[in-house]
Amino acid sequence: MTSLGYLIAGNWKMNGTVEEAQALAAGVAAGASAAPPGVELLVCPPSLHIGAVGAALGQGPVRLGGQDCHEEASGAFTGDVSAEMLADMGCSHVIVGHSERRDGHHEGDAMVWRKASAALRAGLTAIVCVGETEQERLAGQAEDTVARQVRGSVPDGVDGRSVAVAYEPVWAIGSGRTPTVEEVAAVHKAIRAALTDLLGEENGASVRLLYGGSVKPGNAKELLAIENVDGALIGGASLKAEDFLAIAAAVA
Ligand code: PEP
Repeated sequence: MTSLGYLIAGNWKMNGTVEEAQALAAGVAAGASAAPPGVELLVCPPSLHIGAVGAALGQGPVRLGGQDCHEEASGAFTGDVSAEMLADMGCSHVIVGHSERRDGHHEGDAMVWRKASAALRAGLTAIVCVGETEQERLAGQAEDTVARQVRGSVPDGVDGRSVAVAYEPVWAIGSGRTPTVEEVAAVHKAIRAALTDLLGEENGASVRLLYGGSVKPGNAKELLAIENVDGALIGGASLKAEDFLAIAAAVA
């Protein structure tokens, strides 16, 4: 574990009404005090719901984040949201490079790097997502793929306060399938090595590495106990406050 403790982050994706988002946020906030010490909770609602969710979270410990940001601070970018806007709404984090953005919106490492840099400029912590496809895993290229994505997507000079890296195998997202403990350990070790190469020993060691992909209350304990796993990024199971809090409670 890094000195920052664990980060348990919920990616709500494009789900729910504003009323449902407020109720979910209130449920997470109500249970947050029961989370083990050293566990930070973060929820990332759709950008349209960030204001309402921020109000529902109030002054409590649960952090607020965006699911993506544009690389520029402002301008003629219809439909986009900047990192500065997220910060202005009370966000502390933003997810960049999620595979649903890399794949569905054709975002490559260079763009993810620019988005992560935009997050830093706005004072946000960037959660940079990486992960191999099923073909890449079957070809024995999982570690090489994520190390290349880390080198291409994580800006120089950052540390654990400005960046976290989420390892999300594309084939494990929303599928109910997860890599084995050994596979997660091997990829997280490769990510740690790529980060220490890029950032130096101390800063590389300070970056929290999250695992994401079909994390549930039933498998969280095993996944969170793996070396170099400093938290989780959770999609489906973060849409139920009870499940999200049960995952946080699974931190040893
Ligand atoms: C995600 O998309 O970030 C994710 C981890 O989804 P799920 O937990 O549903 O697999």
